[in-house]
Amino acid sequence: MHCPFCGEADTKVIDSRLVAEGDQVRRRRECLSCRERFTTFETAELVMPPRVVKQDGTRQPFDEEKLRAGIMKALEKRPVSIEEIDAALNRIKYRLRSTGEREVKSMQLGEEVMTELRQLDKVAYVRFASVYRSFQDINEFKEEIERLSQGNGDAAVDVARALVDNGTDKGKA
Ligand SMILES: [Zn+2]
Repeated sequence: MHCPFCGEADTKVIDSRLVAEGDQVRRRRECLSCRERFTTFETAELVMPPRVVKQDGTRQPFDEEKLRAGIMKALEKRPVSIEEIDAALNRIKYRLRSTGEREVKSMQLGEEVMTELRQLDKVAYVRFASVYRSFQDINEFKEEIERLSQGNGDAAVDVARALVDNGTDKGKA
């Protein structure tokens, strides 16, 4: 940030605080050359999350509540806090915004959710993946489960096996 008084490129931040309920950062800066002080405000440029293009080609607005509901359902009775879920949602929204695209395919949205669930909770990941991918390729799904289970026989594998045993019956997942 150049000094507005002398044009010097080097300015030092001497104070930084959140304002406007945390939506803005106010910074006091001092010019290293002329020692003048000035204030800058920094605000995130928010681009609305894109519209969602469904597989049949129809468009609908991005629905955060729907997305949250899907994640919550996968995480039902799992030891994951609301804070962690919010953080995951924020990361998804951030990535959607940062593409700069105005539309996102529903497939891609599903992949984003799976990326987050995979980090949060393997059981939830398997639940979501099984419904989302609809067992279109059951072998691929089995391979994914094998990858998840490498090293430890955790609960995700039991859930996954039960799902596989249920075949393509999505309703019971
Ligand atoms: Zn200056």
